[in-house]
Amino acid sequence: MYTERQGISHNPMAEEVKTVAAPRKGSRANASVRWRKRLRFVRTRARELRMIGKALLSTKHPVLVHIIPMRRCNLDCGYCNEYDDFSKPVPVEEMKRRLDILADMGTSIITISGGEPLMHPELEEVIRHIRKRGMIAGMITNGFLLSKERIKSLGEAGLEHLQISIDCVNPDDVSKKSLKSLDSRLEWLSEFAVFQVNINSVLGSGVKNPEDALTIAHRAIDLGFTSTVGIIHDHNGQLKPLDDKQIKIFEEIMTLGKRSFSRFNDFQHNVARAKEHTWRCRSGSRYLYVCEDGLVHWCSQQRGYPGIPLSQYTPEMRQHEYLTDKFCGPRCTVSCVQQVAMLDNWRDPQTRKPMPMPPPPVSGDLIQIGSAQR
Ligand code: SF4
Ligand code: SF4
Repeated sequence: MYTERQGISHNPMAEEVKTVAAPRKGSRANASVRWRKRLRFVRTRARELRMIGKALLSTKHPVLVHIIPMRRCNLDCGYCNEYDDFSKPVPVEEMKRRLDILADMGTSIITISGGEPLMHPELEEVIRHIRKRGMIAGMITNGFLLSKERIKSLGEAGLEHLQISIDCVNPDDVSKKSLKSLDSRLEWLSEFAVFQVNINSVLGSGVKNPEDALTIAHRAIDLGFTSTVGIIHDHNGQLKPLDDKQIKIFEEIMTLGKRSFSRFNDFQHNVARAKEHTWRCRSGSRYLYVCEDGLVHWCSQQRGYPGIPLSQYTPEMRQHEYLTDKFCGPRCTVSCVQQVAMLDNWRDPQTRKPMPMPPPPVSGDLIQIGSAQR
């Protein structure tokens, strides 16, 4: 269930919309790894159930936070506006300070994203701190820096979920995140990871071969992983419709799994068909995006709102955002925030307007390469 709530898919133009429940028979792990993986899965699942209970009882704490320890990336995907090629890692003590603030807020899940988090030299220490503070630890990575040793050390640090987004079967000018480039790492993950692994494939205009998403989903399931499919959105996280062929493939991937969160809402199907949907986005409150500068934003697609330092982000501000009607809601594709919002969609109508905004954070440093996938 957790993978369904992860959002930033390491393809910042795509959001996963469906989790396929993968059979475990494909795992290549030995008995010891399989046993530790099973144990961690059961424990994490128990904590996730507690997380849901806590979220239903109280609306006062964040459920999911994406945090960025490293804006730099080792790749340069042609559609991406969420990386640079020079910035330094956030010092580990500063990361711990931010995590302490989030833990004190009562946050349930932390997902580490980027840039490329595996470039952070003390990533394992960040993960250990997340676990030490009682939060569920996940990570989204392009996977290129994974080695057998790194997979083991991430597991020993306490990582619970890892997601890799794969754009295509063979690398091309737009993306190197191909199944061909990553397949050996996927096999190592299948063999050595004691954490849950989710593979996100991508559909949408600009993706050369839509069938690739199906190939990637099948490979993920063969290796014992879960699989999600993402749909390309525009630079504001807004809807772009799939064509008929893409919808057919999307529906086929949807049938691969036995369980689906989508049974509980029409969001995923609406996104695929670019239909507007009615929901209450609780970003800035139940979901936070904390950038490398330590500023809180609504989400990766609305950076700059509210753009307040985490250390100054008060319970009153969270409550204000909880009750704020987001102008970008009806055409939003950011599924992780939508799925967090399901916990509260049935209560507390949003009647407030966004706070007056401070000047947006300096973002000129981020590389903005047009919309190659449109
Ligand atoms: S450039 Fe880096 S951060 Fe951006 S999508 Fe590619 S791998 Fe992910
Ligand atoms: S509706 Fe919420 S999650 Fe979607 S783009 Fe707007 S702020 Fe982000």
